[in-house]
Amino acid sequence: MVGTAHLSTGLRKKLQNTKYSCTSLMLFLTVDMDMRQAGMDSGNIWIYPDEDMDVFYDEMMQEDLLASSYFKGMFVSCTTLKDPSSYDGKHHCLEAITYIHYDAFARFENESLERSQAYLQYKNLLMQKMIVTLEQKIPNISRHIVHQSLGTPITNEHYINSTRGCVYGTEKTLKQIGPFAFQSKSEIDNLYLCGASILSHGVAGASISGVQTAAKILHCTAEDLIKTDPTQQLQIFEAEDSSQYPDWLKRKIGLRKAKSGFGENIAETAQNNP
Ligand SMILES: Cc1cc2nc3c(=O)[nH]c(=O)nc-3n(C[C@H](O)[C@H](O)[C@H](O)COP(=O)(O)OP(=O)(O)OC[C@H]3O[C@@H](n4cnc5c(N)ncnc54)[C@H](O)[C@@H]3O)c2cc1C
Repeated sequence: MVGTAHLSTGLRKKLQNTKYSCTSLMLFLTVDMDMRQAGMDSGNIWIYPDEDMDVFYDEMMQEDLLASSYFKGMFVSCTTLKDPSSYDGKHHCLEAITYIHYDAFARFENESLERSQAYLQYKNLLMQKMIVTLEQKIPNISRHIVHQSLGTPITNEHYINSTRGCVYGTEKTLKQIGPFAFQSKSEIDNLYLCGASILSHGVAGASISGVQTAAKILHCTAEDLIKTDPTQQLQIFEAEDSSQYPDWLKRKIGLRKAKSGFGENIAETAQNNP
């Protein structure tokens, strides 16, 4: 917006050399399968080969994603086991993520909203590859899929306009962190920065960076801004053990199942969970 001509030579050079973090494939599944019986719990599964992590991550960034039949690395999580009040009594929801390089999707960077057949076919093949990988940890899951959807770097570009679909802002390499990262006060008067490319990435990193930047603008400390509110009480319940759940939560779990028609009768549920 300012125009590159108005930036210092140092900043122009820094922008030119900035590298962005990797992007991802994110598979969303709904399955009619008992995930607990299949061996999952509320925790996450990280699939990694037993080899040098640096070599492995470099391999993951290869451009040809169809060169092998399964992904060597993947993250799997079952959201309906983390939050039992979201489980309808029959269907579980899963997320599976693998990290990739944007170049594997570069040829689709100008996709119109009406996606091309080539893009959809590519997506389908990658989705199958992710499911084949998942099968190794959760046998037979492919026979229980009732809904599947894949998010790609193009999806990230569409929804959040992240550079080359990156998921974590700037790459967190030595030359781009700490004193070498973009700072919250920019060289442009009254332009302050926050988010995943400043302090640290992810929801936590971006949030803390927001508080720190606000503190800088307000000439105070981050601690001055984070105040405990006695009216707000965070409660954390153990996903694996329902014995301590309060009545309102038991009722919510029962209602969710009854509403979908896959749970016990609502009157029965209320009786069992008074
Ligand atoms: C698919 C995916 C899954 C993720 N999962 C996790 C996770 O499980 N845990 C975790 O900690 N982190 C996760 N991350 C990373 C985390 O979401 C980001 O690090 C964090 O949201 C970054 O916050 P931000 O405010 O810097 O940027 P964003 O949250 O991306 O916000 C930037 C905003 O700017 C808007 N914008 C962009 N360009 C323009 C423009 N030209 N004009 C106006 N507005 C614009 C965008 O629409 C967006 O709303 C995930 C990221 C992705 C993409």
